[in-house]
Amino acid sequence: MIKRRKTRVVKVDSVRIGSPWPIVIQSMTKVATSDVARCLRQVRRLASAGCSVVRIAVPTKADSVAFAKIVEKVSVPLIADIHFSAARAIEAIEAGAAKIRLNPGNIKNRADILRIIESAKAHGAAVRIGVNEASIRDLKKADVPAGKRVGLMLKEMTKYVRLFEKAGFSDIVLSAKSADVARTIEVNRQIAEKFSYPIHLGLTHAGLAEDAKTASAVAIGTLLAEGIGDTIRVSVAGDSVQEVLIAKEILKSLGLYKPNKPELIVCPTCGRCQIDVVKLARQVKRVLKDVNRPIRVAVMGCVVNGPGEAADADLAICAAKGRGFIYRHGRKIKTVSANKLIAALSIELKGLRH
Ligand code: SF4
Repeated sequence: MIKRRKTRVVKVDSVRIGSPWPIVIQSMTKVATSDVARCLRQVRRLASAGCSVVRIAVPTKADSVAFAKIVEKVSVPLIADIHFSAARAIEAIEAGAAKIRLNPGNIKNRADILRIIESAKAHGAAVRIGVNEASIRDLKKADVPAGKRVGLMLKEMTKYVRLFEKAGFSDIVLSAKSADVARTIEVNRQIAEKFSYPIHLGLTHAGLAEDAKTASAVAIGTLLAEGIGDTIRVSVAGDSVQEVLIAKEILKSLGLYKPNKPELIVCPTCGRCQIDVVKLARQVKRVLKDVNRPIRVAVMGCVVNGPGEAADADLAICAAKGRGFIYRHGRKIKTVSANKLIAALSIELKGLRH
């Protein structure tokens, strides 16, 4: 059981970020914000995939105008992603952004930051202080040692946080991102030590989905397992829905996400296995597709270790040569021939549903 670090809780419209609230999955739209129709379609796709807050880039005045139209048409809270421009930040807040993301590497003017804070206070918007390693001027040279990089990211963040605190603003979420997994883990450990604000986890420039998946799972998963992290974004060069699906997988693997869907456990198979477990598991997965209940179903390749390993499953198939055994909550209830296993499991599933 993962013990989450205690944090302040930040309100982002209907969503709460911070422990003990569930970890929030977020993602970004990837079309021009000024193309309101396409942007809206992406927001809706993300929301139905399980994304709880959606971030939208607001780089131009035209995007601010479009952002205002999009906010009106969706129920999922929106975050405006702001770089370089205090004017864009204030326009987005006034348009109804539930939260804005500021990059301390490119909005540095103290008076501008204070104006943004006043606007956020007046409109009840939260702010993410999102440090990016690549945006820090002193870190643009390749020969800066890793230890110094982490220290400089933390220093940049601390300056910003102190300014917000002095201005009496505490609805802040912190993030420090790098493309480097080890540095992302280290800097977030230090942020968690130093601050009680909720933390947004993610890598920058993680790559194509197939590469981003592993790097993100290691960086985000390591931190989450240590109780650090309150909202996550998996950056993928590609469809944003992929980001949400990978984020769900990461949370699920740590027991931090409980979808209203079955969880399928499959043994890795070994020399004791007497049937095609992968084929059987795929058939079971198809049967489970339409089940909307958080049950656990196991497919195990033998009766030597299978029943023990599947003991906490609601239903399990433990296979033997030419036949298999159905277990319910760890108790053997049926023995059936191999070709009838799926039908027998389907009947038991119906029984479980009632
Ligand atoms: S359940 Fe049986 S077949 Fe599967 S990995 Fe364990 S021992 Fe091997």
